[in-house]
Amino acid sequence: MTITATREAELLASVPTGLLINGQWRDSSTGKTLDVHDPATGRVLASIADGGTEDALAALDAASAAQAGWARTAPRVRAEILRKAFELVTERAEDFALLMTLEMGKPLAEARGEVAYGAEFLRWYSEETVRDYGRYLTTPEGKNKILVQRKPVGPCLLITPWNFPLAMATRKVGPAVAAGCTMVLKPAKLTPLTSQLFAAVMLEAGLPAGVLNVVAGSSASAISGPLLADPRLRKVSFTGSTEVGKRLMADAANNVLRTSMELGGNAPFIVFDDADLDKAVEGAVAAKMRNMGEACTAANRFLVQDTVAAEFSALLAARIGALTTGRGTEAGVDVGPMIEEKARTNIHALVTDAVAAGATVLTGGDVVPGDGFFYQPTVLGNVPNDAAILSQEIFGPVAPITTFTDEDDAARIANSTEYGLASYVYSRDFSTFLRMSEKLEFGMVGFNAGVISNAAAPFGGVKHSGLGREGGAEGIAEYTTTQYLGIADPYAG
Ligand code: NAD
Repeated sequence: MTITATREAELLASVPTGLLINGQWRDSSTGKTLDVHDPATGRVLASIADGGTEDALAALDAASAAQAGWARTAPRVRAEILRKAFELVTERAEDFALLMTLEMGKPLAEARGEVAYGAEFLRWYSEETVRDYGRYLTTPEGKNKILVQRKPVGPCLLITPWNFPLAMATRKVGPAVAAGCTMVLKPAKLTPLTSQLFAAVMLEAGLPAGVLNVVAGSSASAISGPLLADPRLRKVSFTGSTEVGKRLMADAANNVLRTSMELGGNAPFIVFDDADLDKAVEGAVAAKMRNMGEACTAANRFLVQDTVAAEFSALLAARIGALTTGRGTEAGVDVGPMIEEKARTNIHALVTDAVAAGATVLTGGDVVPGDGFFYQPTVLGNVPNDAAILSQEIFGPVAPITTFTDEDDAARIANSTEYGLASYVYSRDFSTFLRMSEKLEFGMVGFNAGVISNAAAPFGGVKHSGLGREGGAEGIAEYTTTQYLGIADPYAG
């Protein structure tokens, strides 16, 4: 289906441009607006209210006023709102997909995949809402009863990145709504439109005023700073870079806030010599090129057993070299633009540095001239282990390949990073996978699978990749606090 200019204009005109505070779309107190650009063309898509400190505090006023009533709302009612929101997002899947492609650049097919993935957090947590169990037991010596109940943690600040504009919002809002928390959502300034449309859908689904407030703005710290300092806020859930996450953790310490931190990654993609190489290449393309490589789970280092490295490198270079780069709205495009010029410059600097250190360009290796921030899908062979490209998040369509000799060598190289989010292992032998999963210091390990994110699974990292989990039963626990009631047993002597 061709996307016409009229279709784009009509969709953009349907996106609310205000700040959502207490169920109302309002202008910013700063009187300023924030332009949102298409990274494929550089044109301005929309201008939305640019929220500041006063707006952030008004949003927290609304969230804290709504908290007690929302916590008392029956789980079934909260569940039905999430279910309705799932249905509405699914009905409007084409709108959400196109909006993400316009503001973020990913190809439409991938944006549709994100809508399905993102909507699933609403459905999964609607089902989980009514299953938040406590426990009741007798103390070991028999004198008392122990009753343990879960309560909503309270008003939350949710900060999301630009790379998955819908899924990063639903992955936080879904469990927060399920647990009975109210919230202020601050989307990334590069891609706020998807959150604006999502918030409109949450209201349409019946979410009461004040439960979800949305404040986008050009200065993230003008919004987050006063909220983290306000004793009414009880939690911050952040997805973004490790650098910003560490700063927020330091700020959160003053009010002893609950924190969930989904930070950067440096995923190893480990290929053993008994692996099905065709499947490994398919998985490698998915793990590397999904979202143009702009994913925290993106394979950042290809570690291939030395005996099959040449064969794997040639196969991967042929597959990646055949990918089509272009505007995400065009048919047949596999790889969209980078989010901004700065990102593309960083990627190219890493490639240039690796080549100077002795890496071989097997395909790509340069920027694409012309409009938009496009970078050629790239494979680098024989990358030296000390090259910067293997220690930093590339966040682009570049696959650096290096080699290992045996399992211990693979684990040693894989773990030689401060990050610990996703990792991937390809082998025909499940016992190899089990041994590797014991050795790998990563929150997630994929086995013969290049994409492992799922609403029902606990997503998250160790070391500098973060704290806490999103998705699965663990995801709702992040938004609840435990209360223990010690009860005298009336029959105990
Ligand atoms: P970023 O840290 O620059 O920004 C993330 C969010 O934090 C944005 O909303 C931004 O406005 C806000 N922010 C920036 N500075 C802030 C400050 N001083 N105070 C408060 N908020 C601030 O990251 P990004 O460039 O948007 O996203 C890319 C990064 O996110 C990568 O490192 C990637 O690995 C990581 N990421 C992690 C996950 C995960 O689940 N672990 C998922 C997606 C992205």
